[in-house]
Amino acid sequence: MECWHCERPANAVCSFCGRAVCKEHARKLPNLITVYRTRDQKLKGIATADAVFCGVCHPKNEPVELEELD
Ligand SMILES: [Zn+2]
Ligand SMILES: [Zn+2]
Repeated sequence: MECWHCERPANAVCSFCGRAVCKEHARKLPNLITVYRTRDQKLKGIATADAVFCGVCHPKNEPVELEELD
């Protein structure tokens, strides 16, 4: 696969849209993986701090207020 931006060999794939990117063009974004409810009924989210992001797409899971899901 080649980088979406520069067509050199890609090193990673965007976690949000699947576009391939090289090291130079890869960006990092927190990626919310899962949401769960604790015993005291609070919603919590588990996120990777540095998921690969292509810099092109527009993931909707920017910082989210988990309480709003409740
Ligand atoms: Zn590139
Ligand atoms: Zn992307």
